[in-house]
Amino acid sequence: MYFKNFKLVKKTLLIFYFSKSVLVYSLLFLTLNCFSQDKLSDQKVFLITLDGLRWQELFTGADSLLLQNDQYVKHPKKLYNAYWRESSEDRRSILMPFVWKKCVKMGQIYGNRKFGSKVNLTNSMWFSYPGYNEILTGKADDKNIYSNAKTPNPNETVLEQFAKKNGSGRVAAFGSWDVFNSIVNQKRSGVYTNCGFETSSDFPLSLEEKLLNEIQQQIPSPWDSVRLDGFTHQYAKAYLKKHQPDFIFISYGETDDFAHNGDYESYLRSTKNTDALIADLWNYIENNAYYSGKTTFIITTDHGRGTTPIDSWRSHGTKIKGSDQTWIITFGNGILVKGELKIENQLYTNQIAPTIRKLFGLDQKEENGYGRPLSLN
Ligand SMILES: [Zn+2]
Repeated sequence: MYFKNFKLVKKTLLIFYFSKSVLVYSLLFLTLNCFSQDKLSDQKVFLITLDGLRWQELFTGADSLLLQNDQYVKHPKKLYNAYWRESSEDRRSILMPFVWKKCVKMGQIYGNRKFGSKVNLTNSMWFSYPGYNEILTGKADDKNIYSNAKTPNPNETVLEQFAKKNGSGRVAAFGSWDVFNSIVNQKRSGVYTNCGFETSSDFPLSLEEKLLNEIQQQIPSPWDSVRLDGFTHQYAKAYLKKHQPDFIFISYGETDDFAHNGDYESYLRSTKNTDALIADLWNYIENNAYYSGKTTFIITTDHGRGTTPIDSWRSHGTKIKGSDQTWIITFGNGILVKGELKIENQLYTNQIAPTIRKLFGLDQKEENGYGRPLSLN
């Protein structure tokens, strides 16, 4: 009886230990799983573009051939004092202090061709809509996207993909150029988009939005289809405060239009101003518990511009050599600090959307032509 009982006790104990370890492992698995799920759902992304800002200015600052060229500059002396420094490192720091004093210490900067670090478009158009389509979808579409006309984008952007999974209230797009409603396909995607000279229709309006709607009518833009970037920035910030989206796309536009105007002075000033706007966004998220420590910034451009002949700095497109040359800056959550990449390396603009898909745990698109996610950590 005793021995029989002993066997029974032993068996019970064994079952107990076995089920206990199963329980422990299940709990551990669940915890890890929840942890990684939480990490993914905590992720925020700020995707920012500066329309047609050349890698030449980003990496080497003001161009000696343009800075005092009276064909492109009205106040050569003043501009020279403000933006000329002997070394390219000093010149770029004067032009984009946030990028070269802060971002470079927090993340990775790709595209300095002087070191063989290259970023290129894969579309063969080299102008804006095809560039933004490539950035936002991860694939060039030369067959359908071959003009800047306001044609609703037939392709699903990563913004739309995110909205389908997480709800359209978690994502928004702001642009200075009035074609973004079509590029984002606001109608189909449901992604809130405010661009061009659109006023905020995000009712009920906050005090900031009411004021912006009013002064946007009172401060004329130099252009017909592009508003001044300060408006885009402030509309985006008002939306951030109101809704705390996890994914926001902000496209600044002045750089491209001042360049088309042949106004190098304003192109430089606008570049410096946009650098400060990005610093403002970073400071905002750093002081906001919802975003701080959880946000990844990705900054890029939709195309490059020319260098030779000299006047081609104003333009881009297949006829302008080098206007497929772009750059990428990334820093923040999940980004290993590598600084400026001074190695031979080839990246493409179609890798940006796949990188965002990876950060958010969205399904990758496997068809031909889609880029691979960047290896960021
Ligand atoms: Zn342009």
